[in-house]
Amino acid sequence: MTEPILSVRGVSKTYASGVRALHAVDLDIDKGEIFALLGPNGAGKTTLISIICGIVTPSTGTITVGGHDAIHAPARARRQIGLVPQELATDMFETVLSTCRFSRGLFGYPPHAGHIDQVLKDLSLYDRRNARIMELSGGMKRRVLIAKALAHEPDILFLDEPTAGVDVALRRDMWQLVHRLRAQGTTIILTTHYIEEAEEMADRVGVIAGGKLLVVDEKAALMKKLGKRKLDIALSEALVAVPAALGDWRLSLEDDGRILRYVFDTQSDRNDIPGLMQKLVEMKIGFKDLETSTSSLEDIFVDLVGEGAK
Ligand code: ADP
Ligand code: MG
Repeated sequence: MTEPILSVRGVSKTYASGVRALHAVDLDIDKGEIFALLGPNGAGKTTLISIICGIVTPSTGTITVGGHDAIHAPARARRQIGLVPQELATDMFETVLSTCRFSRGLFGYPPHAGHIDQVLKDLSLYDRRNARIMELSGGMKRRVLIAKALAHEPDILFLDEPTAGVDVALRRDMWQLVHRLRAQGTTIILTTHYIEEAEEMADRVGVIAGGKLLVVDEKAALMKKLGKRKLDIALSEALVAVPAALGDWRLSLEDDGRILRYVFDTQSDRNDIPGLMQKLVEMKIGFKDLETSTSSLEDIFVDLVGEGAK
């Protein structure tokens, strides 16, 4: 077995305000994988990334990046890491090119014009390389943050909520870039609160909530475990209770009995919707509309936490 490129052990963080943002997080990341850290706002995702990148000091725990102790030798660990932060933060008066060059130099790497030009081309920034960052649109500014993070050819790239609020073109370019980087052997760790994004992108997913890493698994296994869908049947007439004859389905009444809700696993063979529809017709329970939706992250967390408590 090869050493993980990133190893997090027993990392906890309590901010000075008293907020416990992380509780004893353990995580190993293998070289070359795309890992998604999935969790709602406030789960602790940015805190964990900030600790790994040496921006925030953990209260307890150890971290190694490529074998280097990230807490006691942060500079050596940080050289191998590219970070695209959640918030736009860069010098607005600098040009695109000088920002990228400077960032590379900051990590102690010699200039490499060819590499930086390629990164700028990959991100459709090359034509604007001499523009000052303040002159660029919000989407272009985000591209600059990515270029800056890649300027020193990092082995590990962190993308903190990369697609929250970005346009479709940037989203597409970003995913193409991620796949290209992965093909070159770069390890990619992204955070997101969109389950679809984790599903689309990642090899493995870790679910974090309330500062605890609840589960880490291969994407397919996790989606199988977590995925639930909801079918809302708008009834012609409200019901007082779910009829006993519909006991084969997991049903509940919502909206004062006007909506019959069926919750089912996405992967299970037992989501017998046609059977339910037929039964409703037989029982002369009229309905006027149907709506399906995928369970929210919150529903999933309730399930996960419930499972853990059993
Ligand atoms: P996420 O990135 O998953 O949304 P964060 O790591 O930003 O979560 O936040 C986790 C928790 O820590 C939240 O309750 C947040 O309010 C708190 N927090 C984050 N940064 C700070 C800080 N600098 N000082 C105090 N509390 C913070
Ligand atoms: Mg965050």
